Amino acid sequence: MRVLVLGAGVIGVTTAYYLARQGYQVVVVDRQEDVAEETSFANAGQISPGIAAPWAAPGVPFKAIKWLMQRHAPFSLKLTKDPFQYQWLLRMLRNCTSARYAVNKERMVRMAEYSRDCLDALRAETGIEYEGRQKGTTQLFRTQKQLDHAAQDIAILEQSGVPYELLKPSEIGRVEPALSAVSDTLTGALHVPNDQTGDCNLFTRNLAALARELGVEFRLGCTVQSISSSGDQVTGVMIDGVLETADQYVLALASYSRAMLLPLGIKIPVYPLKGYSLTLPIRNVAMAPQSTVIDETYKVAITRFDQRIRVGGMAQVAGFDLELDPKRRETLEYVTRLLYPQGGDVAQGEIWTGLRPATPDGTPIVGHTAYRNLFLNTGHGTLGWTMSCGSASYLADVMRQRIPQISREGLDMFRYC
Ligand SMILES: Cc1cc2nc3c(=O)[nH]c(=O)nc-3n(C[C@H](O)[C@H](O)[C@H](O)COP(=O)(O)OP(=O)(O)OC[C@H]3O[C@@H](n4cnc5c(N)ncnc54)[C@H](O)[C@@H]3O)c2cc1C
Repeated sequence: MRVLVLGAGVIGVTTAYYLARQGYQVVVVDRQEDVAEETSFANAGQISPGIAAPWAAPGVPFKAIKWLMQRHAPFSLKLTKDPFQYQWLLRMLRNCTSARYAVNKERMVRMAEYSRDCLDALRAETGIEYEGRQKGTTQLFRTQKQLDHAAQDIAILEQSGVPYELLKPSEIGRVEPALSAVSDTLTGALHVPNDQTGDCNLFTRNLAALARELGVEFRLGCTVQSISSSGDQVTGVMIDGVLETADQYVLALASYSRAMLLPLGIKIPVYPLKGYSLTLPIRNVAMAPQSTVIDETYKVAITRFDQRIRVGGMAQVAGFDLELDPKRRETLEYVTRLLYPQGGDVAQGEIWTGLRPATPDGTPIVGHTAYRNLFLNTGHGTLGWTMSCGSASYLADVMRQRIPQISREGLDMFRYC
């Protein structure tokens, strides 16, 4: 069985790897000269099923208005002429009820927990290196209100059987020693011990090498122009003017998925949610993070790699704009200095921006389409690295017509129909 995987970000590459392991003959196509050159290039490095949650949450519409007026805001909005931007925002607002939040978070945690288990198995089987650490995530609260809001998340963690620990300010240093110096500025923390960290770009490049050993062919520097169909079947993909055919097709084009699917009559609500990261060398190991720390006030994640710190955050609804806004760098530097003033050298930090392929409900779109031989693995938004191995393994089972190891409920595009 020959399958064409469109897109070589972390999602396309994991998909190719898991399909190849199931005996598929796989070809991966990407417009970049290497794998993981777009959104999977410099994300915040957290593999965090324990805090997987949609942006669309109760109270967010009011918070968003406040954020629009703040200097170091986690969210910003630049209205464009694209009507889909308004439709997407409206759909996101509709997901901001407590009931929708609980449904969406459960789906995300389900996929993310499974994904972390798949990654553990992959690491054990292959020894893949990616500067990985298994030391949990710590979400920091600065106000009593934030601590109170965590109750709903904790209820879902309990329901999903995810271990957690609520820490008093004086206890935070036990998991993140360098934070002892600033614990008086915090009201508490939620520590999720089974979360992990790692460099997504390094992982994807090393997994692509393992996939090549399994016979996967990578066609890099090749642009997918369109997808042809007849009846309920895809008949080929136009790549740089040449029609390529296969038995099955997987679309993993992140924020570019929607435009590629529209001519086929498939409308998926995936919108580019712009974010930034800053990567800095460690200056003082004792004063650097151990794992991922999330500052809930600024929604900034700070992650430890071997010799570097990656600081990531911000969600900007601004279309496909990839311009670097210096104000965003100021925010990342500001939060780093608040929490780890001696940990890293911010002056030497490298700034990067990427477009998260975001759905309005936070859950990715993984599974069948109305075309019998076309499958989707896209829309992973803020947590594509976290959910990559699980989404790929799950999709390989779906394509093979095997029973997946997690429930299929709410994971494919038909939840929008
Ligand atoms: C600032 C920031 C921080 C983040 N932090 C985290 C984190 O800590 N943890 C986490 O789990 N997730 C995080 N994410 C999200 C995560 O990075 C994404 O969800 C993930 O990288 C998406 O992977 P992907 O393979 O779908 O997309 P991509 O990596 O963008 O891959 C899509 C590929 O499709 C290719 N492509 C597109 N159009 C075409 C075409 N027409 N022809 C050929 N090729 C094409 C592109 O070249 C690209 O390589 C973060 C994202 C950002 C922006």
